[in-house]
Amino acid sequence: MIRTSFPCPSCEKPGLRFSFWSSLSHVAKKQCPSCGAAIVSEPGFWRNLVLAVAGQVAVLIFGIPLIYGILGEFWWVVVLSVALLCAAIWPLALVLHSGRVKLAREKKYRFYDGP
Ligand SMILES: [Zn+2]
Repeated sequence: MIRTSFPCPSCEKPGLRFSFWSSLSHVAKKQCPSCGAAIVSEPGFWRNLVLAVAGQVAVLIFGIPLIYGILGEFWWVVVLSVALLCAAIWPLALVLHSGRVKLAREKKYRFYDGP
């Protein structure tokens, strides 16, 4: 099932989403804004591999205009390249993470000092 958001596993609040940087990490983390539950997603080796390969391809595609923009000091090209890079990677990262969310009960996932 293709979706970029997920419901909270604890309180069922829908439409949660990992942040851009969090979704790029191996273990995405988020705190539910509604119930405060710690939510993690560990996509596993193959999903991370897919993301890494897609990331490499995206960097190759958008890296050329990025370098061109930096060398030529066309800053709008730099901004556009980075924006397109994020736009290409983030949804994929969200889709890969959304199917694997769970509550962070295990100690290794502890990242906030909640109750
Ligand atoms: Zn919740």
